[in-house]
Amino acid sequence: MTTHADPGVATPDATALDLSTIRADFPILARTVRDGKPLVYLDSGATSQKPRVVIDAERDFYEQHNAAVHRGAHQLAEEATDAFESARAQVAALIGAAPDDVVFTKNATESLNLVTYGLSNALAPGALDGVDPAIADRLRIGPGDEVCITEMEHHANLVPWQEFCRRTGATLRWIPVLPDGTLDLAAAPIGERTKVLAFTHVSNVVGTINPVAELVARARAVGALSVLDACQSVPHLPVDVTDLGVDFLAFSGHKMLGPSGIGVLWGRPELLAALPPFLTGGSMIELVTMEKSTYAAPPQRFEAGVPMAAQAVGLGAASQYLAGLGMDNVAAHDRALVTYTLERLAERPWVRVLGPTDPQIRCGAVAFTIEGVHPHDVGQILDDAGVAVRTGHHCAWPLHRALKVPASTRASFAPYTTFAEIDAFVDALDRVPVVFG
Ligand code: PLP
Repeated sequence: MTTHADPGVATPDATALDLSTIRADFPILARTVRDGKPLVYLDSGATSQKPRVVIDAERDFYEQHNAAVHRGAHQLAEEATDAFESARAQVAALIGAAPDDVVFTKNATESLNLVTYGLSNALAPGALDGVDPAIADRLRIGPGDEVCITEMEHHANLVPWQEFCRRTGATLRWIPVLPDGTLDLAAAPIGERTKVLAFTHVSNVVGTINPVAELVARARAVGALSVLDACQSVPHLPVDVTDLGVDFLAFSGHKMLGPSGIGVLWGRPELLAALPPFLTGGSMIELVTMEKSTYAAPPQRFEAGVPMAAQAVGLGAASQYLAGLGMDNVAAHDRALVTYTLERLAERPWVRVLGPTDPQIRCGAVAFTIEGVHPHDVGQILDDAGVAVRTGHHCAWPLHRALKVPASTRASFAPYTTFAEIDAFVDALDRVPVVFG
């Protein structure tokens, strides 16, 4: 097995990415940890690092343009509003969307709660007055109806639906996970009662890329809304909302080289136009009297209060940065990293990799266990060598139960991850049987 000691070396499968140049864009990657060891950051699935263009965009906003957007009657307010709305257009362009169909939220968790609370609020008397009856029927979900999720969801796309079902009387069902970390589609409880199918595009633990087209077709066949958690796909794969055919799509800025404190909900325009608001207050209204209020059109209807404008500007810069790399190139690089990691771990029979063996249906992350060693101890040994990974249940407790492991260690990647870092990680991992053998 050849190894790739030089970060600039390309494998045959990879990669139009110039890793030396990319890494120079990320100031934090130059730092050392644990008494002078080079940082090997393999925790991008939890949160990615940020390129200088993102940091600069935020700083420039605060230094030159800061004002409350959509409010003041002065030049700075105009500039801030322009910057905020330009950022919306940049984010929309990355996912093939129209800017007005992109709602800024705090993170993917809030995006998913926006959908679940919007749907709960649709049950209030009069909430869907004036809405096309066919759309109103899709949005009205209650006793006798079913919400279908999967057993591999991050808690962010699980707990909100549990709560939704508790509030509305709908029943929660789920697609089980097979031992290889793929969905058991033959056992998918999707039928006439299903009103929502909510699932993750890519598992944040085992990296499985789920068959979106097939699942969306099944949802559509029964008239169910499809909600895609794209947190782990937008940073790694070309994502186009038209190609995917889903009704709603949620993701977080901080996992896609953007700032923390900002997320996105994309929705089909006719559904966003009908969906009642989640949070209410300033900025999202049309008319207000003491008795009642009417609401602005999307996206403003879902952006109550002064929004996170600097973070939006940073996310716009991150979207442009990814688009500049080319998402096909990013995806090819990711696949090469995953393939290489699987190959290197396969040389170690004491490592049990979780998830599909086929790298073609994986992306972003490789999680594993080591018999007899707790993942926290594995993480400690890696950290001692300067290698940052995540350990635990990664907010996907039911998935770990389905795979019959209490917890795992996860190495996760980004466009700046090198093959040399995978080597450093594997070398550090080899200390585990020495210490615990
Ligand atoms: N969905 C998936 C697949 C994730 O990986 C995560 C975060 O790890 C989330 C949702 C929640 O993202 P956030 O915590 O940014 O809201």
